[in-house]
This record gives sequence, C-alpha cells and structure tokens, in this order.
Amino acid sequence: MKLLHVLGAGTPKATPNRFGSGYLLDLDGDRILIDCGPAVTQKLARAGFAPGDVSSLFFTHHHFDHNADYAAFAISRWDQGADLIPDLRVFGPWPTSEVTERLFGPDGAFAFDLAARLNQPPSQIVHVQRGGTLPRRPMSLDVKVLDPHSTVETRGWGVRMDVVEHAQPYLESLAYRFEWPSGSIVFSGDTRPCRSLVDLAAGADTLVMFCWDEQSKLESLGLDRWHTGTESAGRLAAEAGVRRLILTHINDRLGTVHPEVAIEQARMHFSGEVIVASELMTVGLADHGQDLR
Ligand SMILES: [Zn+2]
Repeated sequence: MKLLHVLGAGTPKATPNRFGSGYLLDLDGDRILIDCGPAVTQKLARAGFAPGDVSSLFFTHHHFDHNADYAAFAISRWDQGADLIPDLRVFGPWPTSEVTERLFGPDGAFAFDLAARLNQPPSQIVHVQRGGTLPRRPMSLDVKVLDPHSTVETRGWGVRMDVVEHAQPYLESLAYRFEWPSGSIVFSGDTRPCRSLVDLAAGADTLVMFCWDEQSKLESLGLDRWHTGTESAGRLAAEAGVRRLILTHINDRLGTVHPEVAIEQARMHFSGEVIVASELMTVGLADHGQDLR
C-alpha cells in the first residue's frame, strides 16, 4: 500500500491548524519523510508513527519552516532507537551537510545534549531498558548532498530531482519525483512556477504543490516572482499533465477557512482532481493502477 500522510501543510506562520512543511510517504512500509518543519516529530506521532519508523529524510531546502524539527526528529530517532535501527539517511541540497554539522557535530548546538545522553547514568539506564547495550554508540547520520543530476534508487522506489526557483543564492531548492513501478508523486518544494518543475512533474500521478495564496493577492504584492499562487499552480499542473494536484504550504485563510476558493481558482486552468492539503490528512497513491483514496 502506498500512502501520503500530510504532517505540515502550512507556512512559516504558526496557526492551530497548520505550520510549516512535512510529508510522510509510505511506500509499502518504507517510510520517507519529506521536509521536517516545526513540530513534525509530534505530528508524526499523531499520525501513528515513531521516528524510528522512518528510514530516510529528504530536505527540499533549508528555510526553517522546512527544517526546524530536524534536531528533535534525528535525536529522538537515535535515542529511542537504542542502536537497534539503521542510521537515518538524510538527503538534501546544499547546505544540508553544514546544517547537520552545526546541529550535531562536535561544536554543534546539540553536542551538549548528545554528550549527556551518551554518558549520564539515567540516559544509559533508559537506553538499556529500550534494549540497547553499553557503551552507547554516538549518534550518526548517513548524509548525502544532492544536485539536479543525483538519483536515489532502492529496491522499491527511486527519486529524480531538479532545481526549482525560490531563495537562491541564499538557499538551494530541489523538487523531488518519487517513482515506483505503478505510480509517481512529485513534491515541488517552495518555488515560483518554473520549467524545471513542469518537466520533472510531466505525467506524474500526484503533484504536491506549493501554493502561497490567491493569485491576485500574490501578484498585487509582487510575490509571484518567488511564489506560486492558486491559478499558477493550476496552470503548472495542466502544463505538466499531472492527474492530481494537492495544494499545500497554504495560509490558514485560504487553506482552512475557504479551501473551495483555492480549488475553484486552480480549476480555472486544471481539469484534474484538486485537493487542499490539511495536516494529518492521508491520501492513497497510485498502486497497481488503482487509486486507494
Ligand atoms: Zn516554505
């Protein structure tokens, strides 16, 4: 079974309903986290999963609304995993290595926490209770920095990617296309409409699309130079020929109070299925030609 669990469907503004980005892709039990925005670790628990259930983490880019829970997620996964699970595989564009090092390296912000958990008796007792042995193995992460030419392949799925246009030159941004024999899903990351995303998403079953606001609001502020709005999301989905469009990274007014407005505006240009993401929503993905939602 292949499922998408929406964990973070919001913007950098915290609201009771949405905050930041995070998606759990469950491909026949291999669970992949895409972005790790604020409170994703707790929202993962609310969706019924533990950090140790996740094998891989992909960052689209390193704005805080996409990575602020990285430390909470990685440390709790290592701590509760009691050295009994493989290291977390972490993928992302520059500066994924630098962010990782500055959080968890010898001079990182969490070096103090990690030293305490390794060496202090109460942490060691809990570690043994969880099935671990002493001495504890220090936390380590399997980090791989990606560029547009990278691919990631496993037995059940593969990933292609390309650069999208958002916060360069301050941050690099990637969109990802996950594929398996019977389906595909594309995560746009944050971007304005761009050719590379249309090409990456061509013919995909599902496009999880950054959609900041109504098109007219975006354009009146000149934000459409960096962001995608309702209508441009619909236009891009139509141009790419995707089957289903999920609007996400959307503000509360549009995403929670008036999702029908977002759907209507996207559908002005796109005739396929349009969904407005909400947190803790689960969406069935194409599997053996069937849609399970
Ligand atoms: Zn963002």
